[in-house]
Amino acid sequence: MNNSKENHTLTRTEIMTWLRERDEKRLNVLWANADSVRKLNVGDEVHLRGIIAFSNHCNRTCQYCGINALNKDLIRYAMTQDEIISAIREFESFEYHTVVLQSGEYPGIKRDWITELIKRIKSETNLAITLSLGERSESDLAEWKAVGADRYLLKFETSNEKLYESLHSENKGSWRKRIEMLQTLDKLGYEVGSGIMVGFPGQQFDDLINDLEMFKELNLDMIGIGPYIPHPATKLGKDFKPATVDAKQVPNNKLTTYKMIALTRLTCPLVNIPSTTSLAIIAVDGRAGGLTRGGNVVMPDLTPETFRRHYDIYPSYHREHFNTDNYHHELMASIRSMGRRISSDSGVSLKFKTRNIKISNNDN
Ligand code: SF4
Repeated sequence: MNNSKENHTLTRTEIMTWLRERDEKRLNVLWANADSVRKLNVGDEVHLRGIIAFSNHCNRTCQYCGINALNKDLIRYAMTQDEIISAIREFESFEYHTVVLQSGEYPGIKRDWITELIKRIKSETNLAITLSLGERSESDLAEWKAVGADRYLLKFETSNEKLYESLHSENKGSWRKRIEMLQTLDKLGYEVGSGIMVGFPGQQFDDLINDLEMFKELNLDMIGIGPYIPHPATKLGKDFKPATVDAKQVPNNKLTTYKMIALTRLTCPLVNIPSTTSLAIIAVDGRAGGLTRGGNVVMPDLTPETFRRHYDIYPSYHREHFNTDNYHHELMASIRSMGRRISSDSGVSLKFKTRNIKISNNDN
């Protein structure tokens, strides 16, 4: 395979063959190609981003998510700005250069409050800011960009509009609105992150191929891919049955997630790709596995324990202990043991840099 800095053009048939492949020797070729394209394009650096999940209030009822509004057993919380800043200070001494401010989608999180928070973080730290607050109005997004927000994450979850709508049957937004918001973020100058889940009920292999095409069409700067993890407090999780091999249903396992990470790296070589928390939750070697198959970002949840135990998006998520000194030391040691370097900057996606150079050249 030619590992040049150009996109690899894989046909739908080739992608389908990889998605169905089970021979370990052949799969090693896919992993090696993805790793080599990663190294050639975005290098050996791994970017650390610390997530602060500052509120678990959410108005939406996404059928796969443990903090959806229908989960009445969950204790809801919202951190104060002082609590957020103090949590950020805790991890600033490690090699994190970005904070990801994450919450459910909740109108109670006011525009002015986020504006104030962004200003405080920018004046009190050197961190880049990624927002992940669900669907918001263009005017909110424009104001936050103007005061210093750098990136925004909004997963489209699946390119299959019908499937998306079926998982958001009550109090729903719309798939089209979500796609439009990704385009708005691009227009406003954000580094745009999105992504999908692998293996939720109803998802077929053709959907994954369409997801890969959609990554390119949307011109994304960051692409996150995680396995669907059934949550017992959700409608979808209660009735979940794992897919049988060779069925049309995409399995929600480590192998299929690895394949999608590798195929994403081959088809979108310049983007940032996190080795996701959900991958680390389903497999002890998931974090490392994602990094050796195309990934170049790690995003641990550094929310203080008292709050994090209630950010119950996945079962057992709260039992992961991301924000201890030991965790940071082990994470950095394991990254270095792979022959990789911890990045010393905020890790702007090469895709973002490249398209902005193109835009400014066109302006001249
Ligand atoms: S996925 Fe996001 S919007 Fe949907 S219920 Fe969970 S936190 Fe809310």
